[in-house]
Amino acid sequence: MKNYIKPHEWQIVEEGFDPHVNQVSESIFSIGNGKMGQRANFEEQYSGETLRGSYVAGVYYPDKTRVGWWKNGYPEYFAKVLNAPNWIGIHVLIENQKLDLAKCKVEDFKRVLDMRSGYLLRSFAATFPDGKKIKVESKRFCSMANGEIGAIRYSITPLNFTSKATLSIYVDADVVNKDSNYDEKFWEEVYKEASEGSAIVTVQTKKTFYHVTTGMSYSIESNGKKVELERINVEQREKFAGNVVQLTLEEGKETVIYKYAAILSSENHPKEKLVEACKKVLELAVKTGFDKLFEDHEKIWFHKWEECDITIDGDVAAQQGIRFNIFQLTQTYTGEDERLNIGPKGFTGEKYGGSTYWDTEAYCLPFYLGTAEQKVARNLLVYRYKHLQKAIENAQKLGFTDGAALYPMVTMNGEECHNEWEITFEEIHRNGAIAYAIFDYVRYTGDEKYLTEYGLEVLIGISRFWSQRINWSSNKNKYVMLGVTGPNEYENNVNNNWYTNIMAAWTLQYTLEALEFVKTDNEQHFKNLSDKIKFKEAEEVERWKDIIEKMHYPEEKQRGIFLQQDGFLDKELRSVNDLRPEDRPLNQKWSWDRILRSCFIKQADVLQGLYFLEERFDNETLRKNFDFYEPMTVHESSLSPCVHVILASKLGYKQKAYELYLRTARLDLDDYNNDTEDGLHITSMAGTWISVIKGFGGLRVKDGKLHFTPYLPDQWKSYSFRLEFRGRVVKVKISVDGVETKLESGAAMEIVVKDEVVRLS
Ligand code: BGC
Repeated sequence: MKNYIKPHEWQIVEEGFDPHVNQVSESIFSIGNGKMGQRANFEEQYSGETLRGSYVAGVYYPDKTRVGWWKNGYPEYFAKVLNAPNWIGIHVLIENQKLDLAKCKVEDFKRVLDMRSGYLLRSFAATFPDGKKIKVESKRFCSMANGEIGAIRYSITPLNFTSKATLSIYVDADVVNKDSNYDEKFWEEVYKEASEGSAIVTVQTKKTFYHVTTGMSYSIESNGKKVELERINVEQREKFAGNVVQLTLEEGKETVIYKYAAILSSENHPKEKLVEACKKVLELAVKTGFDKLFEDHEKIWFHKWEECDITIDGDVAAQQGIRFNIFQLTQTYTGEDERLNIGPKGFTGEKYGGSTYWDTEAYCLPFYLGTAEQKVARNLLVYRYKHLQKAIENAQKLGFTDGAALYPMVTMNGEECHNEWEITFEEIHRNGAIAYAIFDYVRYTGDEKYLTEYGLEVLIGISRFWSQRINWSSNKNKYVMLGVTGPNEYENNVNNNWYTNIMAAWTLQYTLEALEFVKTDNEQHFKNLSDKIKFKEAEEVERWKDIIEKMHYPEEKQRGIFLQQDGFLDKELRSVNDLRPEDRPLNQKWSWDRILRSCFIKQADVLQGLYFLEERFDNETLRKNFDFYEPMTVHESSLSPCVHVILASKLGYKQKAYELYLRTARLDLDDYNNDTEDGLHITSMAGTWISVIKGFGGLRVKDGKLHFTPYLPDQWKSYSFRLEFRGRVVKVKISVDGVETKLESGAAMEIVVKDEVVRLS
């Protein structure tokens, strides 16, 4: 755990340069706009430890799978989010001395991520080996107003000299992925050009043939006037194009380099038009100018904050934490492009390949439901609808038939691209989360038509899978599901994971309900769909009903608990408190087999099911299961604490809820799991949001109404949040004086606060 980020309500602030945390900061101070993302790398050269990272949404590489022993059914590749061309580079050379913070003496270093306006600021003073000292300030942002523009204002002020300087301003596509399986370079050059004042490089990915064109233009000014450049050389080499310019830097005088970048991909433009389109974007950026581009960008951020801010009074660390989570989520996924999704690390690192996991449905969806227009959450569902055919093929590869769909655990384009057997083949519970998300969306928005248009077809595919994946046990006289991995990845190949079984039966039940709805909503559509998917209604429905009735759910009646899996009670049951500090985190300290045999739980499993299907269980059942499982949970997945906050809040375990809340809210800011340098835990950030809204705020949606059972954590004076709900915006404030609710926009409505109906108009 680290503790170097200064508390501030709207900013993330780092003071003083510590190379040991540089890669952590590169992740934390990342900026993005849904179309691209950029780690907080330095513009100038840096020979210290760094993970350079620029990412372009939707562009990936199918890196050949690397496993010890090949097993049938393994996916051929593991998709990688691509480390894309570097557009930020500005190298500074003063009398043959490079500006390199690993080599210069650095003072007054400060990095600020301004969340309200969405920019990164960095300033420092650097002394070169010969004693020359300069002050540098850089401000950059990825435009929210035009997702293809990035802009930098980079200023240099000599503090004790006047001298000639050389600047190299460039685009560099010769980048590698740190996590490349075979040290392969994924980009090939297609085109480049450089002229005085600008440069463009187009590269394509091997195998997938995505084209990315990155262009840059710049201007250099001092006191608002163009600086006379003494020399301009055009520089080109493989996958690289730029300008090298010479100028004189005068003591005490600030020279400003405005660098504009245009980052375009073949996902959004025809390949043959990319260069032309890039030039247009660059022209527009230069014409608009840095200040106006920034103003337009900032306006969008202000508007976004109006929709999604959470305020916390009385605890700056908690306030900073929640805003940081909201900020990063908002700049990762804007919902404008239904082909995109939310990678567990967003655009802040390479790990988890930038691919889509069940995280989206299980954790992120409620955030977008509550903070953005309905179409944003809808797009997330449509994304899976569009992958249905691939999910059917994915199931076929594993031997399933007749339209059974198994959604991938990890995907870029609908194909499975994770290659650990215990995950790919066994962690099939993801199918349940995808079905649940449809239910969650319809419950929240009331958009039942979604079932007719898209939802039912997905539900039938998933139900067909469950109905083939289970088998009848004549020993138990029940349907069982063998050889699975539940959400707790610290057990593999177990029989009857309670969570998977209950989500499977729940999906069948919900599919039956959706079926009835669609039949009455649009009979013709239902007939067409049935023909299309060869739905044998009577036969299939009968089987589903039988499974619902006779599914096996492992439980231990005496303790009143559900069993994570059939054999769970054979384990030596211990509490996390019995572990020595040097054993934690288990996944870094223990052998894998030891973890698998232990009772320790990575993340909510039975409790995940109780969270999703809460209405089916009474408080006593929740309590018994929480009291049994939480003490064995090591929360080594960032997705774990939030579910526990919500359940602990419901059970009145306020202290526990708050302790776990802090862990999720400041997970990356304090580098809790010692892995922030790989990138931020973007999907778990949505978990932080639900911790506040569903945990402390006690939000549930029942019968088309918002219900709140809020409480105020002892550490806070008050907190407030806004929710988008069916065309309205509702503001809720909880303080020592009680609960205030207000309708900020939309038609009058009723909500329920602590079981009392409140009319808002
Ligand atoms: C968790 C999974 C999750 C993945 C990506 C893993 O550590 O166990 O549930 O989907 O991370 O966030």
